[in-house]
Amino acid sequence: MVAAPEVVTAAFLPAEEFDRADFDRYVMGTYARFPIALERGEGCRVWDTEGKSYLDFVAGIATCTLGHSHPLVAAAVQAQMQTLQHVSNLYYTRWQGALAQWLVENSAADRAFFCNSGAEANEGAIKLARKYAHKVLNIAEPVILSAHSSFHGRTLATVTATGQPKYQKPFTPLPTGFDYIPYNDLPALQAALAKHQGKVCAVLIEPLQGEGGVRPGDREYFQGLRALCDEHRLLLMVDEVQAGMGRSGKLWGYENLGIVPDVITTAKGLGGGFPIGAMLCRESCNVFDPGDHASTFGGNPLACRVGLTVCETLVQENVLANVRDRGEQLQAGLQSLVARYPHLCAAERGWGLLRGLVLPENSPMQARDVVAAAIAEGLLLVPAGTQVVRFVPPLIVTAAEMAEALAALERAIGKLAASHS
Ligand SMILES: *Cc1c(COP(=O)(O)O)cnc(C)c1O
Repeated sequence: MVAAPEVVTAAFLPAEEFDRADFDRYVMGTYARFPIALERGEGCRVWDTEGKSYLDFVAGIATCTLGHSHPLVAAAVQAQMQTLQHVSNLYYTRWQGALAQWLVENSAADRAFFCNSGAEANEGAIKLARKYAHKVLNIAEPVILSAHSSFHGRTLATVTATGQPKYQKPFTPLPTGFDYIPYNDLPALQAALAKHQGKVCAVLIEPLQGEGGVRPGDREYFQGLRALCDEHRLLLMVDEVQAGMGRSGKLWGYENLGIVPDVITTAKGLGGGFPIGAMLCRESCNVFDPGDHASTFGGNPLACRVGLTVCETLVQENVLANVRDRGEQLQAGLQSLVARYPHLCAAERGWGLLRGLVLPENSPMQARDVVAAAIAEGLLLVPAGTQVVRFVPPLIVTAAEMAEALAALERAIGKLAASHS
């Protein structure tokens, strides 16, 4: 082993004071950011540049499953950086194989392809489905179905699969070969299959719609969907980018629905905050040949070692049991808010530690207003659309932290209630 080099800290630090005006001048304005700048994180807590601390129930948008600065993740990054970071897929590396084996042994899939994000994982699934259509089903112009209010990413193909026109409008013309079905509606799916007359090759769908409003899939619908996919030899491709990797209280969201998918995409939670994605498939649709698909950074030793550390830690620290217990605690807290503030909170829904507080149709405020009020009380939350406030804390959140978050949320809602009465 080479001795660890001294850590360099001083050479490339930005200016001492964070300057928001400079940030806004140089960075493209693609995000509506909340007005705090975060500097440090530990466990479920983060600190801003003013030194104020927040309970982080966003966790990098459902990514930092083991919280911030987890010692095992930090150790994995450091050890692998000092050994081998990246060499491309021209060669074999042991960590990619080890992570693929873990994912295959812990899912319905037989094979893994690695990439760097959720959109890239779904892009891979879309390409796989099209090759499967040509090679196995003999469809010249295949159609992929996805759901209204879904979210599958921002690349041109995945934004087209995303069933939300607001994300697509500025970027027409969109690629062809996609159509949309209402979520949890089996007769509508049958109608879509009839409409496309044997051209549908796959259904891309979230087991629980995350960005689209934390809407869980319906068991009966998904079992009917599986049966129709079997009957027509369509690929059932579940987008587990948000619901997977333990967030639902089971490792995969589809386990809550009693189905076995053909293709699984994952990203967000897989690296515990480190960028990595994967597209998994069963042997029956493993149609890619060398040269069909690739990603320069995909499956690099650093990302895969971190991913494997996250996966193993979920098991060894019995994290899924905590997700179920803390999920119930969160659900009970949200239900009590709905009971006490019915004019501001209409319902709560979700699985495990992926939950939403639904605002009423005629709400005087939007999810963004609740999030801003929670930030003022030291709690970070994220909207899922305009009417749903989303809770996606690290999966290691403690009972005390959950109680603290619910108390902060209650203060925020109480103040909003007072200002809207
Ligand atoms: C976030 C998300 C994506 C896109 O992931 P990126 O890493 O941002 O590309 C795709 N599908 C679902 C369900 C997501 O929640």
